[in-house]
Amino acid sequence: MFRPVERKGGTCRFPPLSRVHTMSIASRLREVRTRIAQAERRSGRTAGSVQLLAVSKTFPAAAAQQAYDAGQRLFGENRLQEALGKMPQLPADAVWHIIGPLQRNKVRKALEAGVKLIEAVESLRTAEAISRISGELGKETGVLLEVNIDNELSKHGFSPQELRAEWAQLAALPHLEIRGLMCIPAPTEEPQQSRPAFASLRLLAEELRVRGPYSLPILSMGMSHDFEVAIEEGSTEVRVGSLIFGERCYPTTGHE
Ligand SMILES: *Cc1c(COP(=O)(O)O)cnc(C)c1O
Repeated sequence: MFRPVERKGGTCRFPPLSRVHTMSIASRLREVRTRIAQAERRSGRTAGSVQLLAVSKTFPAAAAQQAYDAGQRLFGENRLQEALGKMPQLPADAVWHIIGPLQRNKVRKALEAGVKLIEAVESLRTAEAISRISGELGKETGVLLEVNIDNELSKHGFSPQELRAEWAQLAALPHLEIRGLMCIPAPTEEPQQSRPAFASLRLLAEELRVRGPYSLPILSMGMSHDFEVAIEEGSTEVRVGSLIFGERCYPTTGHE
């Protein structure tokens, strides 16, 4: 049975027993779900309005399967190649989102494999490619647009200014359904420090909603260390990895 790993560092993909966390994935999941419910209640959100996406990157399919057995159905992977390896190993009703940037030359593969939502569309060019390939495959593809909400130099994603400027072109793409926005705020010590970034993403979505034609129901924001603050600021989908599966053995937060 796969056990979450407690500590960072070393080759902990196949951890020795001494480094293995005693809490199972099922109980960790239960705890995360409880905290989500509490954050919903605290912030006056409807119960069940926040979806939990389990980020299984770097962990084996067996770990994702344990989450599945504990009732989890929504999974996220950063890299398409890794997702393609795991998707066939889980039951068909597991839903997979790609949460890392998807190269244009991998879009067809992702769509053919049944990826449900591409969460980190980071440029008009990528959006155009997804629309064109979706058209060729006779489908409409759901996407989220990734916003570089803190205007970090090193980060992918639309700057808010860029997104406003390109919105009309994005909204006109025929085989794309823009379902919402996602962001990864700049790293912070304290979860509270991400609050302004989360609030900005919500306000940006409200502004674009008014411009139409999309209702943008999804705000994908919040990770293991700050998901409760994100929920308080309107997140509808939190992407949680290490709290469920344990620490990863190499840094894979954000984009790699
Ligand atoms: C890795 C990753 C997560 C999950 O991070 P944790 O801190 O382990 O919860 C969420 N979103 C994205 C885009 C990621 O790359």
